This record gives sequence, C-alpha cells and structure tokens, in this order.
Amino acid sequence: METEYDLTIIGGGPVGMFAAFYAGMRNAKVQLLESLPELGGQVQALYPEKMIHDIAGYPAIKGRELVKQLATQMQTFPIDVHTKSAVTNVTGEMGDFTITTVDGRVSHSKAIIVATGTGAFEPRKLAVPGAEQFEDQQLFYHIPSLADFKDRTVLVAGGGDSAIDMALMLEPVAKQVTIMHRRNQFRAMEHSVDLLKASSVTVKTPFLIKTIERLDNGQLDLMMKEVRGDAEEHVAVDDLVVNYGFIADNKALQAWQVTPSMAHHLITVNSEMNTDVPGIAAIGDAVTFTGKLGLIASGFGEAPNAVNQLMMQLYPERRSPLHSTTLFEKRTHQQA
Ligand SMILES: Cc1cc2nc3c(=O)[nH]c(=O)nc-3n(C[C@H](O)[C@H](O)[C@H](O)COP(=O)(O)OP(=O)(O)OC[C@H]3O[C@@H](n4cnc5c(N)ncnc54)[C@H](O)[C@@H]3O)c2cc1C
Repeated sequence: METEYDLTIIGGGPVGMFAAFYAGMRNAKVQLLESLPELGGQVQALYPEKMIHDIAGYPAIKGRELVKQLATQMQTFPIDVHTKSAVTNVTGEMGDFTITTVDGRVSHSKAIIVATGTGAFEPRKLAVPGAEQFEDQQLFYHIPSLADFKDRTVLVAGGGDSAIDMALMLEPVAKQVTIMHRRNQFRAMEHSVDLLKASSVTVKTPFLIKTIERLDNGQLDLMMKEVRGDAEEHVAVDDLVVNYGFIADNKALQAWQVTPSMAHHLITVNSEMNTDVPGIAAIGDAVTFTGKLGLIASGFGEAPNAVNQLMMQLYPERRSPLHSTTLFEKRTHQQA
C-alpha cells in the first residue's frame, strides 16, 4: 500500500529518533525507517549498558535508558515507525520521492532526512581460528546485560575508551576482570586510564590472543603471546569480551538511484544540513562538514535544522519555527 508522508527519516538511531519527534512537533506527517529490529542505533546495539556523560540535561544516563527516553518522546506524536526496514532504493524528486525497503514496501515522501549513521555496522572480530563457535556464549563483542557477567571471570581485549569503559563497568559485577591490550599505552582518554589504574582490574600488556579453547570445566583457555617478544601465557576465564572497534558499511546508500554526494563514505551537507539532492537532508554520524563532531549531542542539534528547513521549503506559507511550548499548544489544539 502506498502512503504519502511529508518527511521520511531513514535510520532510527538516536539522531533519527529525535528528528522524527521534532518533525512530529512541526506537524509533519512522518515515517521512521530502521534496518535493525530495534531502534536506538549504535547506542542500543553496541553499548546499551554504558553510561553516557555528555547528553545535555543528563549528568549520566545509560545507553539503554537514553533510547527509552527518546522512544517515549517520539510517542508524543503519531509517527509511523518501521523496523527491519532497510531502505534499498530511493527514486523521484522533492515533492514525491519513492522509497523502497528490503521487505518490498513502497512509500512516498515529499522530503527525506538521512540519518543512517556510518551505515550498517558490525564489530571487528577476533581473528583467532575457531573463535566464532564461542560467539554469544562466552565470546562477546558488546555487553547486552551486565547481569549476565555476575560473579564471572572476564577478560576484556582492547585498548580504546570503549574497552576500558567495558572493563570498568564489569568490575563491580564480575568476580575478576582483566584487560589485555597489544600495546603498553592505552589509546583511551587520560581520565579513563586513571580510573583503570585506580580499579581492581588486572592489566596485561603488550599481549595478543593467539588461541582459544574450551576447557573441561567449561572455562575458556586463552593463549596470549607477547607482542614483539617470546613470552606466552595461558589464562582461563569464564567469558571473553572483545572490543577492537567497529567496521561500518554505507554501501547501501550508494546503491540508491537518487543518492547524495559523499566524501570518504560520509554525506556532504551545508550548514542547513542540505545534501546536493534537493529535498534530501542528512544528519548525525552519516554526515561530514567542517567541524563536524561524531557525537549524539551534535546530531541532536542538526535534527531541528534539517526538519525546519525542509518544512519551510515544503510549506513556505507556514510560520517559521516557534518554541516548543507554542508548537505543543498548537498541536494539541489541532488534535482536539
Ligand atoms: C562504543 C561507543 C561509545 C560511544 N560513546 C559515546 C558517548 O559517550 N557520547 C556520544 O555523544 N557519542 C558516543 N558514541 C557515538 C554515538 O553513538 C554516535 O555519534 C551516535 O550513535 C550517532 O547517532 P546516529 O543516529 O547519527 O547514527 P547511528 O547510531 O549509527 O544510527 C544509525 C541507524 O541507521 C540505521 N541504518 C543504516 N542504514 C540504513 C538503511 N539503509 N535503512 C534504514 N536504516 C539504516 C542503522 O541500523 C542505525 O540504527 C559512541 C559510539 C560507540 C561505538
């Protein structure tokens, strides 16, 4: 069935979710299309248990909780949300874009906001023979629930902020936590490294995992080899958490018939978040412009910019953006 929308937001990460809410507040008929089964983007998929400290108004909020709050905020307006709906093609032009999703659904939208982040993302895997057989049982690439690690011995592999965050998150829950990195210096921010040093987490550097096997008692036997050295050590742990970063893939966008120009796999936008395709704006981690920051806070700022300028193009007769209080009152009045 074909449907007419004012705005279609492609990508249901935190930035796309906020854009959908904001579009609702501007009285737009809006749909949100997300390829994964759940909304929340990287926050939900990669670090639901991590504390985020740089969201305005929240001194600290868990990833999962932020996504929940965004979903609640979105429910203020009747937004059509479709998960498991990767956009496979966009055709047409401003005023009538045709959007096709992986399940064959076709919809029509006057304008589009691309909020696909860095594309479909997946963790960089542990390159050790046979490692895949332990995945999601004792080998994890993210921490879905801290409670699963209660009273377990855990080794975290990685040297960036996220790896240290994971080790520190696990410390109060797990029986014992070790962090292993291939260099003596961690890549993480000084503050995180200081917290690590002050914690009970055991630090093993410079080592790399060479083999992984399951012992008779159910634990994993990890053989670690010293980098640029000969030392080999075995460590037995209940669980292994690997944080070697993520590989993102934005190829799907390049396959669309109508696709904005990109630089280094990111969509180039101007200060109004316009791409070079009239009627298509882009926001969040998907975009690049001078001074762009890959932060949730920056994406939240870009969303109203994109929505407002598209709505002004679609409905020039409507008043320019008002403050949220006035927009809410107007909306409630219209719905009554
Ligand atoms: C481990 C880690 C820790 C981080 N910590 C912080 C932090 O503390 N503070 C901070 O501000 N930022 C942090 N970030 C960065 C932050 O998560 C990103 O800036 C933010 O998620 C960007 O939001 P987004 O909505 O633009 O993109 P994403 O979160 O990437 O969401 C994009 C969504 O689009 C969907 N999508 C992709 N292609 C399609 C398609 N063709 N059709 C439909 N849907 C599609 C994807 O499935 C995804 O759900 C962290 C990132 C990581 C990896």
